[in-house]
Amino acid sequence: AKEEGRNRFCTFEPQFYAQFESELENLTSLREGLSKDQFTVHFQPRINARTEKIETLEALVRWQHPRRGLVLPSEFIPLCEKSGLIVELGAKVLRQALKFLQQMKKAGHQSRISVNVSQRQLQEPDFHAFVRAELEKHGCCGSELELELTETLVVDSGEIIRNNLTEVRALGVTIAIDDFGTGYSNFARLSEMAVDYIKIDRSLVMGLPANAGLIQAIIAMCKVMKAAIVAEGIETREIADQMIELGAEELQGYYFGRPVAPEEILTRLEKDGNG
Ligand code: C2E
Ligand code: CA
Ligand code: CA
Ligand code: CA
Repeated sequence: AKEEGRNRFCTFEPQFYAQFESELENLTSLREGLSKDQFTVHFQPRINARTEKIETLEALVRWQHPRRGLVLPSEFIPLCEKSGLIVELGAKVLRQALKFLQQMKKAGHQSRISVNVSQRQLQEPDFHAFVRAELEKHGCCGSELELELTETLVVDSGEIIRNNLTEVRALGVTIAIDDFGTGYSNFARLSEMAVDYIKIDRSLVMGLPANAGLIQAIIAMCKVMKAAIVAEGIETREIADQMIELGAEELQGYYFGRPVAPEEILTRLEKDGNG
């Protein structure tokens, strides 16, 4: 029985350790990256469908890794969320985003910033106090900031998250539902929540024109919730025109601009004469 037990354990052990060790290594290098300020924020424009001018800039985090170069969030956000490091990383992203907003305003440009927020961050009871303090520190008002949350987070949230959302909305901060149409949709619950924008996921947008009917139905429901529609993942003029036709208020995607470093956004704003 002893032999059997060991054999059984052996078939499982090597993979387990390999996974565990690499996760531990990644965690160590994430911590190091945070302490050495290796995380930067890029910004992607969100365009007003009528004026085709930049309405909001979405902050998207990047890891400037000393050996690996620019690392995209899909490679490190999951572990940040799992480990809780997302609270520290998210704070850095918000700070950098508001610092850039302050810089833009000084240069005479009018814009807003949107920031992606994970569940773990909203579970911190003093998240709203942190947001308020950072807004004040950077001379920004609440209405210049938007938080992007996923649908399930908003619908299945507990007391602490609901309180954080109520408090930040009282500051004028707007709320957007990200990646809409990918999760399950509890419209009854969702319609009880105060939501300002709904971002239709790029997997749906990229399915145009075949799924125009589906998007039309989704937009009809969003209008009931009195939320403005943002279409994500627009890569061509044709898709942009179809989304405008379907009633999108704002457009975002490579066609209008990829996520780029803050300096590049400033250059573009100078050229466009935005604000
Ligand atoms: P997301 O919030 O849905 O952001 C949109 C993603 O789609 C970005 O990828 C963006 O570069 C990409 N994208 C934008 N337009 C197009 C397009 O026209 N075509 C295609 N194929 N892709 C497009 P990115 O920057 O790699 O970010 C991936 C995800 O990582 C984000 O998805 C978001 O969920 C998460 N993320 C990024 N920054 C943060 C952050 O600061 N905090 C948290 N919690 N999550 C973040
Ligand atoms: Ca987003
Ligand atoms: Ca999205
Ligand atoms: Ca996403």
